[in-house]
Amino acid sequence: MKGVFQVAKLFGIPVQIHWSFLLIFAWVFYVGSEESLDWWEMGGYALLVLALFFCVVLHEFGHALTARRYGVETRDIILSPIGGVARLDRLPEKPWQEFMVAIAGPLVNVGISLLLALFPMLSSGESRRQFFDYFYLLFNPDSNAFALNVSPVYEFIFLLIIVNIVLALFNMLPAFPMDGGRVLRALLSARMGRLRATRIATFVGQGFAILLAGYGIWSWSPITALIGVFVFMAAASEYRMVRLDGLLSHYTVGDVARRQFTRLYASDPLALALEQYRQGMEKGFLVFDEWQNLVGVLPEKELVEAAGDSAAHSLPVGRLAHARFEALLASDSLKAVIPGMQWEQYQLLPVFDKGQLVGVVDQNSVNSFIRLRQKSGGAKT
Ligand SMILES: [Zn+2]
Repeated sequence: MKGVFQVAKLFGIPVQIHWSFLLIFAWVFYVGSEESLDWWEMGGYALLVLALFFCVVLHEFGHALTARRYGVETRDIILSPIGGVARLDRLPEKPWQEFMVAIAGPLVNVGISLLLALFPMLSSGESRRQFFDYFYLLFNPDSNAFALNVSPVYEFIFLLIIVNIVLALFNMLPAFPMDGGRVLRALLSARMGRLRATRIATFVGQGFAILLAGYGIWSWSPITALIGVFVFMAAASEYRMVRLDGLLSHYTVGDVARRQFTRLYASDPLALALEQYRQGMEKGFLVFDEWQNLVGVLPEKELVEAAGDSAAHSLPVGRLAHARFEALLASDSLKAVIPGMQWEQYQLLPVFDKGQLVGVVDQNSVNSFIRLRQKSGGAKT
């Protein structure tokens, strides 16, 4: 993803931050100077924002580590000003697994709140009383919780408890990509299959998104409106993804393999490969030795990079081809290989059937196959 930089790697999962995340601190500074807070108070709020996002990271690890228990890996966790997202490699297979993965995040925030609440509860009677007063006053609009004269440390803990409760509740809204939407879908899929469940959950989610965006506009809160728009689009894309998933599970690699492809030989000059690339529809090539054994794969990326270097044009393609490559079986499920192709950006993969090379699969052939099948309503022909 563009515009992100890695800040940590925990449990083998990279934690990345989008640059716009830093705008939050500008916002704290802006609000702070509007309210004429001093530097200590502003620092306190900046610290609260950091603590809040640390809780968001823990929330995402709740999802990621639960998913790992069901054999689903997480590519990365990305933080942006509107929240965090753990990008899972795929959806967990069974509805109850999806339920567990989805609910694990909000449960982390509930856990954090309970842990933090132990501080005032286990300390002196005075801070316990303040703790209850603080919450009582907070939900009582006529009063001012700030008049309580709570010590800064306790106030920090109280606010953190509140934001964690808000995080848990907000995420449980039944709208994709919020966890509540996934919980709803998981509960529905146990009864009616994932596609129909997703359609209903998407419908509910988009309804909420419209309400949220409307509320954002009505209350002049651009962030809320933006989250509404974001949720609306995410719900639609979730539905498309599940539909695609259902479509792919009906086909094998053999169904999309291209049977006709250009054979390059390891001793061919690169200039020949470039000419084929320029004239034909093929973007990557298989490379053979003189005994017709497949010895490598020449991806588009290598070709394009070498094109700029005219000295390389006379080199044999065998020098540029990747000798280590993955091969597919014609009987492999399309559903199982496509996510890998998209994540890793495989350009071209050879397809074998009963030990014989029968064709190739590349991103183009897969994409056009998907487009055609989606047009024809996904029926297997
Ligand atoms: Zn979550």
